[in-house]
Amino acid sequence: MFCPFCNADDTKVVDSRLVANGGQVRRRRECVECSERFTTYELAELVMPRVIKTDGSRQSFDEEKLRAGLQRALEKRPVSIEQIEVSISQIKHFLQVTGEREVSSQIIGEEVMKKLRELDKVAYVRFASVYRSFQDISEFQAELNRLSASKSESAE
Ligand SMILES: [Zn+2]
Repeated sequence: MFCPFCNADDTKVVDSRLVANGGQVRRRRECVECSERFTTYELAELVMPRVIKTDGSRQSFDEEKLRAGLQRALEKRPVSIEQIEVSISQIKHFLQVTGEREVSSQIIGEEVMKKLRELDKVAYVRFASVYRSFQDISEFQAELNRLSASKSESAE
């Protein structure tokens, strides 16, 4: 590919490795002309189901929106970018194997909550408080109760 610094049309790969649980390939490239180095990420493009929003409208799956949502929930939390990328890969995989051409935004929301719960409890509550506010508040309270219950279990 072209060098993003000097636009030379020849760059060489100096290192290549699998990241995000093998879902992505990270490559370090070096420009043959100016010797600057940069990184590229390669991932397979698979067909994602369309998303049915709560108002019934459809839109294409937006990976950037998912990433931004996870990053916002995980802001200042001890979770690495790599862990976030693994979760995104898993959520996408989950959606791809449903075999559905359309999935509701709630199904995606539930899947995101499941991942956050594994990654970081604080981020999970942060996301859940926003997410659940559009649904049933008693559901959110029940989640909090479950969380504090499992917390006191692990404290023993
Ligand atoms: Zn260059």
